[in-house]
This record gives sequence, C-alpha cells and structure tokens, in this order.
Amino acid sequence: MNKETLIRYLIDSGSLKTPEIIKAFKKIPRENFVPEHLKSYAYIDEPLPILAGQTISQPTTIAIMTEALKPKKGNRILEIGAGSGYQSAILSEIVGKDGIIITIERIKEIYEYAKQKLKNYKNVKVVCGDGSCGYGKFAPYDRIIVTASAPQVPKPLKEQLNIDGRLVIPVGAYTQKMMLLIKTKNGFKEFDLGCFVFVKLIGKYGWRE
Ligand code: SAM
Repeated sequence: MNKETLIRYLIDSGSLKTPEIIKAFKKIPRENFVPEHLKSYAYIDEPLPILAGQTISQPTTIAIMTEALKPKKGNRILEIGAGSGYQSAILSEIVGKDGIIITIERIKEIYEYAKQKLKNYKNVKVVCGDGSCGYGKFAPYDRIIVTASAPQVPKPLKEQLNIDGRLVIPVGAYTQKMMLLIKTKNGFKEFDLGCFVFVKLIGKYGWRE
C-alpha cells in the first residue's frame, strides 16, 4: 500500500472522518517515524516495531483514537507513550501554532528517538518520565491520549483534564477496551470504543514493571 491507498482505506472503512484529521494524515510522513529498515512498510495497516520491544501503533488505531479525541486548533494535549513520535506529529498539525502537545515516554532510548523525530515540530515538547502520573507542570489539558494499556484510568489523568476535556485510553490486561471519557461538571461520561491490543502502561498508576 502507498500513502494515498492507506488513507483511502482508512476513510472507506470509517476510521477517518474529520477533514482536519484527514489533512494531518496526508501531511505527516509516517515513513519518517519508523526505523530506516522498515520504511517500505510504513503504509501498511499494521503496527511496526521501533525499539526496546515497543511499537508505532497501527494506522487504523491511530485514526480511531484521534477521531475519538476530537483535537481542535489551539488545544493543549497530553500524550502518554511518545513511542515513534508519529501520533504527536499528527496532533501537532491539527492543534497548530497556538496549541501544544506534551508527550511523555518512560524508556530513555525511545524518548531520544521521539525527540529526534519531532525536533522540527515546534509545538511538541517531549518529556522522559512516568506518564501514568500525568504531567502537572502544564496541566490542565483539553485532551489526554494514552497509547499504552492501563489496569484502570489513572486518577492523576482524570484530575489533569479540563471540564469538557476528552481522555482516550485503552484499559485492561490482555485485550483492552478503548475508553473515551468526557469530563463534565458532575463527573465523567464514559464510552466504550471496542477492543484493541496495546503494550502495557508501566508506572505508578499503571502496571508494575
Ligand atoms: N504513540 C506512539 C506512536 O505514535 O508511535 C505509540 C506508542 S507505543 C504503542 C506505547 C509507548 O508507551 C511505548 O513507547 C512505551 O515505552 C510507552 N510507555 C509505557 N508506559 C509508559 C509510562 N508510564 N509513561 C510514558 N510512556 C510509557
């Protein structure tokens, strides 16, 4: 598959819908975020290995999570699990110069990889640390996206979300339920987006190492 065929497939399968998100998928070169020797696989609809047993997520999964997140121009977004940096690059394009993406990665080697890949994305800040605790320094956030699976929704992430903010997170041990939480004045509305498979969120509010 080439880029155009993949995007056409994501639209036809209903995973990609919103014009701004489609535009970001068209603009961001996924081949720049996968390891050099896997560049020719960049536009197949599969997750690919990056470093230290971790992955760049499948394009369908990234499309579904981004659509559920409903990112807008000017949003302040927290991503947990920087991985290859590709999801951040997509969000960076959508929020524009008045928005900001903070992306956290716990594995040093992957943090360095994401930092290098995202060096020209001026509205993205890459942080090394345990994202299961969120990132209080830039809170509250309009959107939070977690790209590794948690045993339950980490309490700090709920606290660091703005009212009307959206949090997308896979929860569960073997296959995971993708959850969308919308924060209201009276609590959270929860939606189940279906089953997915992710690497684990390791940390204080995640799984033990
Ligand atoms: N969003 C990434 C992309 O666009 O390529 C995919 C991320 S990969 C599926 C999940 C990442 O979450 C891994 O790199 C893993 O090291 C990281 N991770 C796991 N637990 C974490 C934690 N507590 N804090 C930050 N990153 C974590």
